[in-house]
Amino acid sequence: MSTKKSVCPICSLPMELCVCKAVSQEESKIRVRTDKRKWGRLVTILEFSGMANVNLNDVARKLKTKAACGGTVDGNVIELQGNHTYQVRNWLKDIGFDVNNIQVMK
Ligand SMILES: [Zn+2]
Repeated sequence: MSTKKSVCPICSLPMELCVCKAVSQEESKIRVRTDKRKWGRLVTILEFSGMANVNLNDVARKLKTKAACGGTVDGNVIELQGNHTYQVRNWLKDIGFDVNNIQVMK
């Protein structure tokens, strides 16, 4: 933990200003599910609750890089093109989220 520990990976604030950990103790949750769009196209929906400090545009950018796909942000929801329910938990963990807060719907 000697390198790159000064900035929070979730909110990008310096750790001394970051409140992600404190906030996430409560009922922060990421619900992941798939949805079907026009022409049977699948999308992966990530719904963020109780994470007002999270920059979803930043999270979406990282997820799109990992998934090598397109995606959009609408309010507290990130939508990724394609079905990524199997990998998305690990991707969110890499970004800095607590896997215990991630709920993947089957
Ligand atoms: Zn933070």
